[in-house]
Amino acid sequence: MYFFDPHIHIAARTTDDLAAMARAGCVAVGEPAFWMGYDRRSVGSFYDYFRQLTEWEPKRAADYGIRHYAWLGINAKEAENVSFAREVIAVLPEFLDRPDALGIGEVGLHKCTKNEVTTLLGLIELAMQRGEQLLFHTPHLEDKYKGTRMILDLLRADRRVDHSRVCVDHCEEHTIRHVLDEGYWAGITLYPTTKATPERAADLVEIYGQERVLVNSSADWGPSDPLAVPAFIQVMRRRGHGESQIRRLVYENPLRFFNQSCRFTFHAPEHS
Ligand SMILES: [Zn+2]
Repeated sequence: MYFFDPHIHIAARTTDDLAAMARAGCVAVGEPAFWMGYDRRSVGSFYDYFRQLTEWEPKRAADYGIRHYAWLGINAKEAENVSFAREVIAVLPEFLDRPDALGIGEVGLHKCTKNEVTTLLGLIELAMQRGEQLLFHTPHLEDKYKGTRMILDLLRADRRVDHSRVCVDHCEEHTIRHVLDEGYWAGITLYPTTKATPERAADLVEIYGQERVLVNSSADWGPSDPLAVPAFIQVMRRRGHGESQIRRLVYENPLRFFNQSCRFTFHAPEHS
């Protein structure tokens, strides 16, 4: 079955991973800008990373028949220094104008501090001025519920935000209902340890349905699995879900969500 991995950090993966993903049916990926494992010390460092996401990674993926799209932004872990974040936000428009840029992401909260919120508001403002889609990272484990609620409160307070053009990612059992109830897209991340396993993701889909739900691997440089979406497909098949239902989750939904980006183009493979 053809599928999208709508959230994966290809820059942290090898060509072996790309080959395995392509063999498993991956036709497109979304790569959000994120933390590299260390804090960057200059805006130039972000600039080069954004070039990597919009120039080099699309070429690497294309060699395996995978379309690569990027989200640009400043991640929550590096959002604490507000004046530095402002410098980074100032270079974003140049990259958002590039043909395969989907919008602003992944942005959000990490420790839910006042400074993180200030930076996030600057990013939301840029998205509103430019009519960009938004992809939100929600914090890990114990901070997840609080951070998700804070993000939803910030978005609710801004009447310009079109909820159907926002994805709130890394949803789990205690947050997904809030996200879906307010009309956002909900991302479920399939991680071997934290976040959701393929089995837990299947449970969530059985409880909350498929409408506005995306599943992704968020595979990066840590313990994670670039073949997590195919693993989810297998779990869904084992539970007796039909092919069209599974296809909707892993192919049609991400296509629908990405399609709302003004620059998005995609040529479906034959017999997709
Ligand atoms: Zn991520």
